[in-house]
Amino acid sequence: MNADLHCHSCHSDGVLSPATLAARAAANGVELWSLTDHDNLGGLDEAREHARALGMRFVDGVEISVTWHGTTIHVVGLGIDPRHAPLDQGLASVRSGRDARALRMAEALEALGVRDAYANAMRHAGNPSLVGRSHFARVLVEQGYAPDVHAVFRDYLVRGRPGYIEHQWTALEQAVAWIRGAGGVAVIAHPGRYRISGELLLRLLADFREAGGRAIEVVSGSHGEAEVRHFARLARDFGFYASRASDFHAPDESPIDLGRGAALPAGVEPVWHAPALGSLVSTPA
Ligand code: AMP
Ligand code: MN
Ligand code: MN
Ligand code: MN
Repeated sequence: MNADLHCHSCHSDGVLSPATLAARAAANGVELWSLTDHDNLGGLDEAREHARALGMRFVDGVEISVTWHGTTIHVVGLGIDPRHAPLDQGLASVRSGRDARALRMAEALEALGVRDAYANAMRHAGNPSLVGRSHFARVLVEQGYAPDVHAVFRDYLVRGRPGYIEHQWTALEQAVAWIRGAGGVAVIAHPGRYRISGELLLRLLADFREAGGRAIEVVSGSHGEAEVRHFARLARDFGFYASRASDFHAPDESPIDLGRGAALPAGVEPVWHAPALGSLVSTPA
């Protein structure tokens, strides 16, 4: 099964429309797809409609920003009902902090010489409730501060660098509760990307399981081969389902394209076998 259960459209910090993403996923051979914009469900209707027309299975998804013990963690929800009011309203509350953070980021970046940082980031984001670090990263590339967005993050936009602004997202338990309340499966996104010790990561996975989380991304655009093996082992140890995800954002930015990651290793249970997902995976028309 070529599944790709995590990517972004222009309804968060991706650059393509849901329709363009759907066409790209289908062209790349994706059979089961999910759109998982950051804290936003606004692209799902378009994505679902185009996925069906192209003969792909589709599950509604989201990627929720969480703060856990001072670290930003991303929790993907798969198979959620986008009309579930507590989820929809909860995500609105998560989004509501983005604009104020963006104004502070812009101030910090303008102090370094970046021109019209806020207006330029908003040109990329289109909406103050969706603006994020990726939109600022594209501005810094345009103005020659770094050769690509990856270098911008490393030099400017991560903790300890001058353009980084601390932010409090929602709680881990809250994000999982919204996802489960909406009938979905909660998945820890790209576990290899968090800059925390191995010991703390085990605590995160234990807290997540305790809260009702059921899966982790094993194959991710952020994971190398060794990480895929490591997280496959952890998925088995914790009894988590395994997800497969490109985390695609843009043709020129993302390390792997839609549907082009490695296959899940043998010995893990794919997340699309989760009962909550099986009944919701909408079949092509
Ligand atoms: P935000 O939610 O606004 O703090 O932005 C988080 C987003 O920044 C992630 O979803 C990624 O798209 C992007 N990002 C974070 N770290 C990096 C990195 N090192 N290189 C490229 N993009 C990154
Ligand atoms: Mn992103
Ligand atoms: Mn993420
Ligand atoms: Mn993502």
